Amino acid sequence: MNIQNFYKNRNQIVSGHLNELKEAFSLTSDEKKIIYSYRENICNQCPVKTQNVCDSKKWINPKTKELKYFHKEGFIKGCGCRLSAKQKAYNARCPAGFWGGEETMIRNSISNV
Ligand code: SF4
Repeated sequence: MNIQNFYKNRNQIVSGHLNELKEAFSLTSDEKKIIYSYRENICNQCPVKTQNVCDSKKWINPKTKELKYFHKEGFIKGCGCRLSAKQKAYNARCPAGFWGGEETMIRNSISNV
């Protein structure tokens, strides 16, 4: 991740790392555990993932899941984030749109009951 992206996303980065720490001390709510697990499962099946990183040297077509190692129209670049923290950041979203916004969806579905 370059310094501009780091500055732009600093709140998410701090939130993700704090939530990683909370999880290590078993302070994570059941709702959040479900969301983290959901995001982790998606990333684990994604070809952009390299070890624990959303690899910024890879581009993916979100519709076809085709992978490239160079920019091409319709392809999204990996964000370069450390995934175990990004998956736990409140407002984080997958750059390819595979996950994100789950907490809002859960809250909206609860308020509509
Ligand atoms: S954040 Fe999105 S693009 Fe990156 S590895 Fe996870 S699912 Fe793939």
